Amino acid sequence: MNNTIVDVLAIGAHPDDIELCCAGTLLRLQDLGYKIGIVDATRGEKGTRGTAEGRALEAQKALEIMGFEFRENLDLGDQHVQDTPDRRVKIVECIRRHKPKLVFTHHPIDRHPDHEGVGKLVKHAMFLSGAASFEAQGEIHVPHRLIYWMASWVHEPNFYVDITAYNDRKLEAAKMHGSQFYNPDSDEPPTSISNADFWEKHDIRHRWFGQQINVKYAEGFYVREKFKVDDPVAFFTL
Ligand SMILES: [Zn+2]
Repeated sequence: MNNTIVDVLAIGAHPDDIELCCAGTLLRLQDLGYKIGIVDATRGEKGTRGTAEGRALEAQKALEIMGFEFRENLDLGDQHVQDTPDRRVKIVECIRRHKPKLVFTHHPIDRHPDHEGVGKLVKHAMFLSGAASFEAQGEIHVPHRLIYWMASWVHEPNFYVDITAYNDRKLEAAKMHGSQFYNPDSDEPPTSISNADFWEKHDIRHRWFGQQINVKYAEGFYVREKFKVDDPVAFFTL
C-alpha cells in the first residue's frame, strides 16, 4: 500500500486528464519544493482508443517525465464513475493515506460523465475524510482546499497559474498518451482529442488563459470558497 505523504494530490478520471489539465501547475509546484502525487480514478479501459495495458505504460512514461512522487490507479471503472458509497470509501482512503494540503480534480459539471463523477466523488470524499464516524481505513485528514481544473467545458476560473516555463514539459508528458491523440496511421475511431488540430486548440486555450494574467501560458482554476487577502498591497504588487 502506498502511504507516501504529499503536499498536493491531483485526482483525474482517465490516465491523460491530469497531464492535459493541470500538469503545468503541478510541475511548477514541484519546482517550488512541494511533493506531488497523482491518482487516476480509472484505467481508461473503455476508451474509444487504446487498451488498459497500453495506457498504463503510457501513464508510466508520462510520470517519468514529470518526476512526481507516485502515480496510482484506483480502478473505479471507466464509464461507470459515479458518486457511490463504495467509491467514496476508496477516495477517502486515498486522501487519508497521502494527507495532501491541496487536492486538484475535475469540475463536477463537465461534458464527460466520468469527469463529473470524479468531481462529485472527490468533493464529498474531502468532507468525509475528516469524519471519524465515516467507515474507512486511515486516520482522519482534511485537506485545506479542493481546486477544480478546466477540462472540456471552461467554467470561469477565479485564479490562474503561470505555466510558461513548464508548458514544454507538460506537453511532452501529455503526448506520451499517444494512443489518445492524432495518428495518421491509426484505424481506431476518432474522438474529441484525436483530431489533427487538437494540439493547436490546446495551445490556444492555454495562451488565452495566459492572456488573462499577461503571461504566455497559464492554467485556470476554480475554487468554490472565497479567499481572503491579508495584504492587498503585497498581493497585487508581486
Ligand atoms: Zn478524461
